Amino acid sequence: MMYKCEGCGATRELNKSTTVHRNDKWVVKEALCSCEKDKYMKEVLTKEHEGFPTIKRNDSGQKL
Ligand SMILES: [Zn+2]
Repeated sequence: MMYKCEGCGATRELNKSTTVHRNDKWVVKEALCSCEKDKYMKEVLTKEHEGFPTIKRNDSGQKL
């Protein structure tokens, strides 16, 4: 999956993702960016995700 930092625009391809709880948010550990302290990249939704009928409550960037 592709992740992108909203701060510096860096992208990273991750084959695995470990979701951890940090600062009251669920983040992907491997998506930690170095541009800011505790800055995590967010998953980029690609065309693979379109038409994939899953319901995600992900509007605020939090995974439940
Ligand atoms: Zn960054």
